[in-house]
Amino acid sequence: MTGLNRLRDGKGIVPKPIILTSHPQRRPAATPPLAWGAADPLARGPVIATLADPAARNAIGTHAGSYALYRALAVASGQLRADHRPDFRNTRPAVPVGPFPAWGDPGKIVSLDPWGHLVPEVFADAMAAGQDIRPSIAVTRAHINMPELMQAMRDGRLLPDGEVLLGNGDVRVTKIAIEPVWFLPGVAARFGIGETELRRDLFEQTGGMFPELVTRPDLRVFLPPIGGMTVYLFGEPSKLGLPHTQVACRIHDECNGSDVFGSDICTCRPYLAHGIEACIGMAQEGGVGVIVYNRKEGRALGEVTKFLVYNARKRQEGGDRADQYFQRTECVAGVQDMRFQELMPDVLHWLGITRIDRLVSMSNMKFAPIIESGIEVISRVPIPDALIPADAQVEMDAKKAAGYFTEAVPDAAELAIAKGRAL
Ligand SMILES: [Zn+2]
Repeated sequence: MTGLNRLRDGKGIVPKPIILTSHPQRRPAATPPLAWGAADPLARGPVIATLADPAARNAIGTHAGSYALYRALAVASGQLRADHRPDFRNTRPAVPVGPFPAWGDPGKIVSLDPWGHLVPEVFADAMAAGQDIRPSIAVTRAHINMPELMQAMRDGRLLPDGEVLLGNGDVRVTKIAIEPVWFLPGVAARFGIGETELRRDLFEQTGGMFPELVTRPDLRVFLPPIGGMTVYLFGEPSKLGLPHTQVACRIHDECNGSDVFGSDICTCRPYLAHGIEACIGMAQEGGVGVIVYNRKEGRALGEVTKFLVYNARKRQEGGDRADQYFQRTECVAGVQDMRFQELMPDVLHWLGITRIDRLVSMSNMKFAPIIESGIEVISRVPIPDALIPADAQVEMDAKKAAGYFTEAVPDAAELAIAKGRAL
């Protein structure tokens, strides 16, 4: 039983000393340097968030985002050894991704580790020497199959080609899971605030969860306990980064109720399916389709807040209508939106994208940061009216009136009409 966090000696649990990471260790020379944005991975150095040796850490927080808390439960309940070291045999990326020029630009990527999928490869020597370094990105291959795509085939909008789209409706994709890794000075710069302010609020708003945020200014990288993202690539990933490759792209923020369960109060799943259809079409034309799926449920306010807002909308005097749509959210959450698209373009730069030929999105909140980050957008594809579900007309009108990309902006009289279903 040695190596377990707690030793069971038959007379009770004998706890090991608690390891505090909030102050520099006695062997600061052991901390490997991290030169964020260096083009050479060995010059950049590995992100080390090991829990085994505090002196070896050069990052705040730990791997697996919010799932780190489940790991703590597994250790606490005696089901996982605290010192378990992963065996990375055969886990390497199923297809190569990068490197691209943006990986060597400290301002272009600040919220993920561009070398996160190549850790066992580029840091092999350090790992062989005993360093506990872990991937923050994984790249695999899959087939997906969705009823909307089968319908698009029956309607003749999609035709199987035997490569991207198979006759049974299966779509060949590359899927990439990405954990957030924040370079704090770069994140602060994106929001136009000081790094000290950012660190202080991250510390205080997590109930003091990560003391190093305020005690260790020498640690500049933070693995936040939040959800990451998944990228679905359609077509040949090796075409990414080539100037002539056409790209279709949808950046989709998670909406579990619609995306998975088909709840009809919003347009999320229909728009996602439409984006996937556009990606398949682009791949069949020889380009690459990119779906980025961000774990930012309910505009990153979470599902409890989201459902409270639904009730407030449907119970308000005059019924569920577009002119009160954003206000009802603000009443409950204090803000209309917490998705902070400032960090969103990072993944596009990580994929080597410098131009999006078809952006499947109406949102100016997504469009603006993409073009401000230096990516050219050739055309924007709105959702076809026929795909908007019955109860989602309130959301659609409100968003059009608030500056979504559209040809027909609804007027005040239109926005005051209750179009949503009552509770
Ligand atoms: Zn939704």
